[in-house]
Amino acid sequence: MGVMDLYYRLPPTARNWALQTYGAWQAYQRFSGKFSVWYETLMKTQYLDVEDIKSSQFQFLKDLLDHAYSTVPYYNRLFNQYGIKPDDVTSLDDFSRLPTLSKEDVVNSFNSLQSSQAGNYQPFLAKSSGSTGLRITYLMPRELKSSFSTANQWRFYSWSGVKLGDRRATLGARIFATRPPYWAWNRWENQLLLSSHHLDIENLRLYVQLIDRFRIDFIQGHPSAIAILAEYLLMEGKPLRMKGVFTTGETVYSDDREIIEKAFSCKLLDSYGMGECAAVAQQCGEALDYHEISEACIIEFDPLGDGSYEIIGTSLLNYAMPFIRYRTGDIALPESNTMCECGKGLPVKISKIYGRIDDKIVLPERTILPVTVRMHMKPLLLPGELYQVIQEDLKTIRVFLSGPVDSTRAYRIQMEMMKFLSSDLTVLVEHTQGIEKHKNKVRNVISRVAER
Ligand SMILES: [Zn+2]
Repeated sequence: MGVMDLYYRLPPTARNWALQTYGAWQAYQRFSGKFSVWYETLMKTQYLDVEDIKSSQFQFLKDLLDHAYSTVPYYNRLFNQYGIKPDDVTSLDDFSRLPTLSKEDVVNSFNSLQSSQAGNYQPFLAKSSGSTGLRITYLMPRELKSSFSTANQWRFYSWSGVKLGDRRATLGARIFATRPPYWAWNRWENQLLLSSHHLDIENLRLYVQLIDRFRIDFIQGHPSAIAILAEYLLMEGKPLRMKGVFTTGETVYSDDREIIEKAFSCKLLDSYGMGECAAVAQQCGEALDYHEISEACIIEFDPLGDGSYEIIGTSLLNYAMPFIRYRTGDIALPESNTMCECGKGLPVKISKIYGRIDDKIVLPERTILPVTVRMHMKPLLLPGELYQVIQEDLKTIRVFLSGPVDSTRAYRIQMEMMKFLSSDLTVLVEHTQGIEKHKNKVRNVISRVAER
């Protein structure tokens, strides 16, 4: 039994106590250390002249290349093999001629990619989500993951006028409750946690009351979940006034954006990134383009021949296990016009990101979000396995897996699907080799019943 199973079984008061303890620990990780230094720095650097930002970014890159060459066996070997010394890289053009780093390279060279000085950066082991293929394990410096990422997140919120300490509601993907209450207040971060897996009318009504009771200033989470809450508010004729809505993790459909901005009387700002922090980009509200977060990364593009591009990212802050010209597997359209009306010097780099394109599952009595399906499928998968859940009609779900399926495994998956979807369904589990990718992403949830 895992820690989370144990947690689910606690009585509500004990569960609340466990959550508060965890929340305090998490807040300590995020806000101790160099958080305020980073936050103050980032609030200033965003308004530097674009040329100043680019030259600082290049200096960060040079430092990283020196460090990689002298302390990371993988890069020392690679640079020597190509006859390159870090000093030879005098422009981004030179840099773009260095070889890329694939996910396979990270798996095969896990040991030699570690800096001999990794210990100085308090690294911990992290795992990628695997949404674009191979799941990788890598080292992440604690400061990058906690202080920097939190500071950057709050700077992002500031783009809609949010101030440090403002109260937020998170409609998140994490499953933190399998029975009521489907919400929690994390007082350490002034954060109202709302489960995005239980969005029925009764809970939506409760969520709106909670947002009012805790005087929430802004909302963050998955756009598909926030859109359901927004739809409910419009249906009830009771729009709210928020400072901002911030989304991540999924494609924002234009009709969802419209509903959300109307229901919360504010702009929706979307962000792009991944655990590896090799490429980070955010919308500012002026346009639908994304600013590169140049203090943390360099974003490049590799043409795929069909008019779209793979995002190549370099993390400027991971000195424990440098990711230089990392193939993210994410597909985008670049933006060449680097000026933005918002006045920030951070260059505009991306005009469109091809993110997840999953459907909702529509049952007679309720709708299930794709994120809910993904969260329940995740623990049932074998390493590297692809899957597709297809709703054929109101009564039939087919689950296709790229890995081997025997009767025990099929039965386990059937039971799990019926538990969180509906026991009235027929669930068929099959092996297939025919799962296709679109823009490098598998469509994990397809509904032939859904409206889109
Ligand atoms: Zn802008």
